[in-house]
Amino acid sequence: MKLRCATTNPGKLREFRLASGDLEIEPVPNLAAIPAPEETGATFEENAILKAVYYSRFTPDPVFADDSGLETDALGGAPGVLSARFAGPAATDDDNNRLLLEKLAGARTRAARFVCVTALAQQGKLIATFRGVVEGTIVEAPRGANGFGYDPLFYYAPFGCTFGEAERERKLEVSHRGQAIRALVTYCRGAAFR
Ligand code: IMP
Repeated sequence: MKLRCATTNPGKLREFRLASGDLEIEPVPNLAAIPAPEETGATFEENAILKAVYYSRFTPDPVFADDSGLETDALGGAPGVLSARFAGPAATDDDNNRLLLEKLAGARTRAARFVCVTALAQQGKLIATFRGVVEGTIVEAPRGANGFGYDPLFYYAPFGCTFGEAERERKLEVSHRGQAIRALVTYCRGAAFR
């Protein structure tokens, strides 16, 4: 069975393939030519579903999409679904990280979690969603050049370092995205869906 994903981002594609073992994952055909839907959902679930259902209309194969981000307790769950655009529509990772540190200055807690939801759909119909969560804390200054986004700020106690300092494969074993993809792959391999 071939599973289609709604991304051509090489980093994400590599992570998906690493986590999926021998299950073939290919982007939706001609993905670059398909106008992207607006991510208007208020939750990771809503955005992942919206993308999976939308892109599944462009191929007969099952399609999955993911939505992910960082939640912090001190900011009531922010940046959440706005993680990529926290510091504005054209924000870079550095801009977002700087803003997060500013907003957390003097906060009562630096507890945070990465969340990833994958949604699986076929021919315009939602089949299932899967959620992965990894808990950590936000450090005072960026550490490490690995990963992307908020990785250099996300301290993961079992590793004793930030995700920015962890090897990519090691991060994927515990990460929100690794969990959500492995759950989806396990589901696809099962009797419920072929
Ligand atoms: P999206 O799922 O591609 O929309 O990603 C949302 C945003 O959440 C990214 O641009 C990052 O800022 C952040 N994010 C999601 N997953 C990770 C991660 O594994 N590490 C660091 N940042 C992440």
